[in-house]
Amino acid sequence: MASTTIKAYGATASTEALKPLDIQRRAVGADDVKIDITYCGVCHSDIHTVRNDWKGSTYPVVPGHEIIGRVVEVGNGVNTYKVGDLVGVGCMVDSCQTCSSCEQDLEQFCEKRATFTYNSPNKHMEGTQTYGGYSTAVVVDEKFVLSIPENLDEAATAPLLCAGVTTWSPLSHWKVKKGDKVGVIGLGGLGHMGVKFANALGAHVVMITTSPEKGKDAKRLGAHEVLVSKDQDDMKKHQGSFDFILNTIPVGHEMDPYLGLLKIDATMVLVGAVEPLKPFHGGSVIMGRKRIAGSLIGGIKETQEMLDFCGEHNITSDIELIDMQDINTAYERVTSNDVKYRFVIDMKSLK
Ligand SMILES: [Zn+2]
Ligand SMILES: [Zn+2]
Repeated sequence: MASTTIKAYGATASTEALKPLDIQRRAVGADDVKIDITYCGVCHSDIHTVRNDWKGSTYPVVPGHEIIGRVVEVGNGVNTYKVGDLVGVGCMVDSCQTCSSCEQDLEQFCEKRATFTYNSPNKHMEGTQTYGGYSTAVVVDEKFVLSIPENLDEAATAPLLCAGVTTWSPLSHWKVKKGDKVGVIGLGGLGHMGVKFANALGAHVVMITTSPEKGKDAKRLGAHEVLVSKDQDDMKKHQGSFDFILNTIPVGHEMDPYLGLLKIDATMVLVGAVEPLKPFHGGSVIMGRKRIAGSLIGGIKETQEMLDFCGEHNITSDIELIDMQDINTAYERVTSNDVKYRFVIDMKSLK
């Protein structure tokens, strides 16, 4: 069976704007689901990959790993999905399925390296790489397809596939529960989801931010209190009082002031800064047996649990819907932190 040519948007070099491209999608295999993409979120990782900030980008780059769509075709071995189902695809489209990470439903840490949704070697079409959701359709192994609750707004569900699971996974892994005092540092695409989830889990949520003007929005999203980290008195008042802190700051930063907020044995989890951090004082963790940890997206099982939780609690992302043709302006606005809180592409504009 032959592959099909479809429309996409991508970059042919790190210095170039995104533009229309034709790409190939493989023919639907026995275990595959073909999805007609309706919406795709715009993640900061898309921009880093397009601009080759993390090196290792292979061009053309067709980004997009917050994919929502309808099933239009299934292979004869597929039993989880049928034509017409509302589904999603997140950051991964394949993994080895046999290593100890994969056996523990932690495909994101696959020892043979998961196949990411874009810019990963494509096992199914040798010599090519994976292309993401800035396109009209995608073909994915059913094990990496997620079921989307039908009661949720389709477009606003897209960011759950990356921003959602990235913040859900640590809250779930560290068992944040009713009554816990949870801090969320940074109110962007990740932070605003962290606030919503922590609130829905019954925690007392404190938005920790450098910008007091973000306070009002934080409360609308579910924060109970706002802590302005530049305010020394306010920081002192909250010292040693947090059960858990979700740190979404995307760049290297001072850690000591935030570590001072943790209770004994409490943990601060980093999900944003994939780059060097400023040196921190050993005493900040020694005094109080505190922990700094990190977390990367989430496994497929966990992503489905998050989506089901969102269905029950009616949680989606706050979004700005754009046309595919507006993507380059959207990138500039994401880079200058001017989006509330996630751009989502309406893929009708590409069809
Ligand atoms: Zn992402
Ligand atoms: Zn594996």
